[in-house]
Amino acid sequence: MNLGFDDRDGLIWWNGSFVDWRDANVHVLNQGLHYASSVFEGERAYQGRIFRSIDHSRRLLHSAKRLDMDVSFSLDDIESAKQEILARSGLSEAYIRPVVFRGSGQMGISVAGADVHFAIAVWHWENLFENRSNGVRLTISSWRRPPTLCAPADAKAAGLYMICTLAKNAAEAKGFDDALMLDVDGNIAEATGANIFFVRDGELHTPRPDCFLNGITRQTIIELAKGLGLEVVERSIHPDELSSFTECFVTGSAAEVTPVQSIAQFRYKIGDVTTSLMEAYGSVVTMTSPNLSIAKLLPN
Ligand code: PMP
Repeated sequence: MNLGFDDRDGLIWWNGSFVDWRDANVHVLNQGLHYASSVFEGERAYQGRIFRSIDHSRRLLHSAKRLDMDVSFSLDDIESAKQEILARSGLSEAYIRPVVFRGSGQMGISVAGADVHFAIAVWHWENLFENRSNGVRLTISSWRRPPTLCAPADAKAAGLYMICTLAKNAAEAKGFDDALMLDVDGNIAEATGANIFFVRDGELHTPRPDCFLNGITRQTIIELAKGLGLEVVERSIHPDELSSFTECFVTGSAAEVTPVQSIAQFRYKIGDVTTSLMEAYGSVVTMTSPNLSIAKLLPN
């Protein structure tokens, strides 16, 4: 049976303590809920170790800062909390969700005197995409990513996910797995919860992260690709080019490296580049201390 997320066994790390999963509640009058005063992370543990944990914690603190939220926990506190809640979950393959949000001390847009909360939950999440072995099918969303003048695109902020939710929901309603989102200039940005890469003539092409998250998985894949001797081109990519690519995949902590089967009418194969990067990523996430220059040593 699929239990709701509020009705599970286990513990949640909550403002420095461990509380029963079902007791980690907030009041309905809550600034995070009403005004999207909330930032979060999505991370994965492999064989009991959180991949690039410190980079996720740094990004969380950065996101909180972008929303002017004072976090009363240090980087070290966050690292220990994540390790401990992971250990207490008993899971070795797990998804980790830290969230920082403003609570019920204040209602309205002003955040003066607002209380800031920090929670970390851990659960098993196979992948962002349920059926991905043959590649996922994307449609092109009419919703676009906001430019940096309109939103802090470098923050993993809940507010930005309103647009992603609209795009994803419209895509699913049409029978697609996800949506490709463009930026305001009409260039390709990313999927709703993952960055995107294309392959042409053995080269990897990916949009510059100028109005969306420069994903930790994206950065890992770029390093791995360079280590495998691939040319990586970060540039503006117009949808007119979609017909010229032979392979396509999306990346993210939840999506890992997921092949894309099609975008609108354009079809892609799960070719050598995608396969070797999926394998390389599968190897690097289980390394004890993934010094990414190690990528050079990975099998071709
Ligand atoms: N873009 C969006 C909108 C996302 O939600 C994610 C997942 N966090 C990513 C990109 C990829 O980021 P990362 O590789 O750091 O998980």
